[in-house]
Amino acid sequence: MLLSRLVKCALVLWLLAFSQSQLYALELTEREQRFLQQHPIIKMCVDPNWMPYEKLDDDNNHIGFAADYLNLVAERAGFELEVVATESWLQTLQYARQRRCDIISMARDTEQRREHFVFSQSYTSYPFVIATRYNKTYVDDFNLIKDRTFAVVDGYAVVDYMQKTFPSTPLVKVENIEQGFEKVRNGDVFGYIDSTLAIGFHIQQLGSIDIKVSGQLNFSSSPSIAIRNDMPALRPILNKALDSISAQDRQAIYNRWVSVRFDKGVDFQTVMELFSIASVLLIATLYWTHHLSKAKNRAQDALAALNAIKHELELKNKELERLATRDVLTGLFNRLKIEDVLEQELERVKRFQSSVSLIIMDLDHFKSVNDDYGHQTGDLILQQLAELLLMHTRKVDLVGRWGGEEFIIVCPETDLVGAEILANKIRFEIEQFEFAQVGHKTSSFGLTTYRESDDIDSLIARADHALYQAKENGRNLVEMA
Ligand code: GH3
Ligand code: MG
Ligand code: MG
Repeated sequence: MLLSRLVKCALVLWLLAFSQSQLYALELTEREQRFLQQHPIIKMCVDPNWMPYEKLDDDNNHIGFAADYLNLVAERAGFELEVVATESWLQTLQYARQRRCDIISMARDTEQRREHFVFSQSYTSYPFVIATRYNKTYVDDFNLIKDRTFAVVDGYAVVDYMQKTFPSTPLVKVENIEQGFEKVRNGDVFGYIDSTLAIGFHIQQLGSIDIKVSGQLNFSSSPSIAIRNDMPALRPILNKALDSISAQDRQAIYNRWVSVRFDKGVDFQTVMELFSIASVLLIATLYWTHHLSKAKNRAQDALAALNAIKHELELKNKELERLATRDVLTGLFNRLKIEDVLEQELERVKRFQSSVSLIIMDLDHFKSVNDDYGHQTGDLILQQLAELLLMHTRKVDLVGRWGGEEFIIVCPETDLVGAEILANKIRFEIEQFEFAQVGHKTSSFGLTTYRESDDIDSLIARADHALYQAKENGRNLVEMA
């Protein structure tokens, strides 16, 4: 059972292998077949260091673009390749001329070389392109940039092409691709001209992400296989093998060694799409930031307005409080406030057994001021009198307007003697004072001090009575009760 399965598998594998070989079977003439029988091993020289085209690795294995092609050719033609290692391209040419190798894997067909070689058909052709800094736009028509300066490797066939086709284009000759890239990076030249393969390899493999392909020349590199010219029979065999390499095979080889970033239409579109997305994001961010900052400004404005209103309210409250407790004309405490204060004072005095005295004062013959000088002058005198009273009383004393031209002074912690001294001092100051327009005026005082079981009314009534006495006794006097 197991055996029959194994046999089946082996059969399928053999059939697959056979069909593969049939797929690429070359139609060789008898002469060609005979040649291969006589030469089952073909010796090959290669360029030992020309990536991505080809090179010999540390173990002298042939790798690269050309190696893939030549391996396919050998496989399909049915011969074995033997690599003859060399140190340089010059040595490769020398060995080939000395017949130490039968073919050169990749060589341009030139008049000079035909002395020693015949050439297969060219098996690849890659355009020469322009490498620039990554931020340059792709240019289809070289004429648009022909006045710019370009770097090229000295000795390349493309130098002749450039000098013939674009004689006015300034060229800077460099030794190798690295130098060319450096000049592009430094801005010494606009672009570096080389084959798409070489440029692509350097961009991709060496990580030169700041360089890209930005244009193409109408010039191609089309290398062939060089065959020693005493083996011309090999040429048609190689050509048939090369013909058998399909477009997919070529693409696969190309992809294996090169993946050039061409900035053509598609990429440009991608760039535009990315640019559009970035723009939309940028605009959205800007709009959102603007929106937030506007909202923040609005909030700050609202807060400032609220603070202003709060401040205004505080002022208004203070004003209301002032209006509620102060006399409008003189700014002294009004009758209501004085009554409040008196009530508190009486409670304090009762609790702490201390003292409080009360002075009521009335301007003498004030009616005549209004009569002689008018009501406005009368008001002014009352304001000046209020200032005098504040000036000559202590901070703890409370001065208020009791009504008309009558004033009241509440003196905490003051006995009758102290109150009399204060009243006489004020009486004297008023008598001495030069009032506006009217000159000197006098005043009469009635005073009293707290007695046990006093209330506001009894206290005021006694002070009032004393004032009445002062008027009765001739005015400009202080009387006590
Ligand atoms: P005396 O007190 O010495 O007996 O004489 P008097 O002229 O001052 O008499 P009285 O106290 O009766 O008169 C009070 C006068 O004060 C009446 C009024 O013309 C005046 N008066 C009261 N309040 C005001 C006021 O707010 N402004 C002005 N200009 N005058 C006032
Ligand atoms: Mg009076
Ligand atoms: Mg009066």
